[in-house]
This record gives sequence, structure tokens and C-alpha cells, in this order.
Amino acid sequence: MAVREIVKFPAPSLRLKAKPVQVFDKDFQALVDDMFDTMRDAPGVGLAAPQIGESLRVVVVEYTDDEREDAKPKKYVLVNPEYVYKSEETISDVEACLSVPGLAGEVERHQSVKIQAKNRFGKPITVKASGWLARIFQHEIDHIDGVLYIDRAARVFQPTVEEMEQIKD
Ligand code: ZN
Repeated sequence: MAVREIVKFPAPSLRLKAKPVQVFDKDFQALVDDMFDTMRDAPGVGLAAPQIGESLRVVVVEYTDDEREDAKPKKYVLVNPEYVYKSEETISDVEACLSVPGLAGEVERHQSVKIQAKNRFGKPITVKASGWLARIFQHEIDHIDGVLYIDRAARVFQPTVEEMEQIKD
């Protein structure tokens, strides 16, 4: 396990459409572990493989629902994710990205999504999410298609330190 260097904008590798994962071997398990280590070290709530220089369709998310007092962080590994549902309703909110340091932007996202993917061992899974978690998934899945939030943002700005603390990236 290791903390890897995060690839930063405007690196061209962030713009590639990543390849599907086909082999769920030991090396792949090590990659997923490195992604969690790197995300926690940053710290962030989500990370996509291209952000550590691996052009593969895998994202990890670790999210705590602050609205629940007993909430524990929930971990997700989505391999080769595909949307099966995106709500018509959208929400605009502020997000940031570990690959675009120092900036934040207002982005419109689907309020809820349903995603089919494989887990880290290749087993099919279905995940439903709404609100912040849905936003995180959409942000991370964009990464594996070479899309950054700044492409979608209505407005990009330099947040103050206090503002930055409020933003989950
Ligand atoms: Zn990002």
C-alpha cells in the first residue's frame, strides 16, 4: 500500500478516456488499496484511477453522511461503472477536485443516480445514491471519461480557506 502522487491539471493524461478493467488480480487489488491511501492522505472523499496516473475505469469513494449522528464512513469501489438511471432533477452546488488545487466551482449534477458496476473482486453490484453522494459519484465517473468539473462549472472561483473547508472534494 502506498500514497501515490496525484496528477494535476493540465496534465494531458487527465483527459483520456480510461480503459475498462479486465483483470482483478493482485496488482489490481494493490492499485485499489493505493487509491484509498492516496485519497485519505489528500484528504478527499473520492478518487479516480487516472488521478494517480492509471488509465483504468475505477473509482473509490469514502463518504460519511453528516446528517446522521451515528454515521460511519462508507467505502465504495466502482469498477467499469455505467449509469442505469439519472434523475431529471438536477442540483447546483460547489465542488472541488484534488487534481485542480486551489479552485472550486458551481456545478449542476443529477440529484440521484443508479449505477451498475463491478466491485474490486469483479462481482456485479448496483449502487443508488442521491444528494452529495450522487454528486461525488458523478464527479469521479467524469474523471474516467477525461472530464473535469471545470468543464461543467457555471462558475469557477478561488475559495477562501473557510469556504474550502466547507467543500467536499
Ligand atoms: Zn476530481
